[in-house]
Amino acid sequence: MEVRRGGGGGSGMRMPGGSSGMKVGGGIGGVIVLVLVFVLQSQLGGGPTSDDSAEQVSSLDNCRTGDDANQDASCALLADVNSIQAFWAETLPDQGGGDYDQAVTTIFSGGTDTGCGAASSDVGPFYCPVDQHVYLDPTFFDEMLEGQLGAEGGLFSEAYVLAHEYGHHVQNLTGQLGKVRTQQGPTSDAVRLELQADCYAGMWSKFATEVPDDSGEPFILDLTDEDIANALDAARAVGDDRIQERSGGRVDPDRWTHGSADQRMSWFRVGLAQGSMEACDTFAATRL
Ligand SMILES: [Zn+2]
Repeated sequence: MEVRRGGGGGSGMRMPGGSSGMKVGGGIGGVIVLVLVFVLQSQLGGGPTSDDSAEQVSSLDNCRTGDDANQDASCALLADVNSIQAFWAETLPDQGGGDYDQAVTTIFSGGTDTGCGAASSDVGPFYCPVDQHVYLDPTFFDEMLEGQLGAEGGLFSEAYVLAHEYGHHVQNLTGQLGKVRTQQGPTSDAVRLELQADCYAGMWSKFATEVPDDSGEPFILDLTDEDIANALDAARAVGDDRIQERSGGRVDPDRWTHGSADQRMSWFRVGLAQGSMEACDTFAATRL
């Protein structure tokens, strides 16, 4: 696939300055905030640290153009987040889900404290409903890119993983996350929640491949079946099983089963084809 990350003139990725973190304007959704937090590894063992003095907040002021996004991994992630949140800022109210609140993505390495407890590098990307942040360590994506997928296969995989996590944020905003009761078994609420997040990722993918952004072209050009299959494979192989034991018993959807690969693909395609939250109501589905 070909992904165009931001326009050549940077119209989709304008970045007013900011001393801590940064604000990104552009897209349909208005202001989007993404904070890069690089936490230095503890000198004593490389584990997670709660020492605030060890945090470095870096600026993404260099992410101004599509070329930047294509050459810098962090700029690419930012462009994905920008597009995903622009989509939901428009779609959630349009489809009766209420206002969309922006969710910060925090990129860390080594380890970081979150509202859901300490997270270390071996944790895949996750959404924490307590502080409403998406957390990720870019090494998660490095592994995908260095693996059998190759760079081409990895581009959409990154975007898909982020869209899945922002799907959990949407579920938090709509109250669906708080209604989860059963967490075990193939038809549990937990599985339905994960499949719905995949369906929401499909909804964004439909938008990103069809609707022109500020640059006059869609964000994603030419999404293939292979891209989709690679993304779902990558999410399963690298992410889900490694996400564990850090929320201290708090609500954390990624600790739960995500459904079978076929189910995930199937619900992603429902979102991709139909683009509606109603179609993505896995909780009403008699068959998953
Ligand atoms: Zn999930």
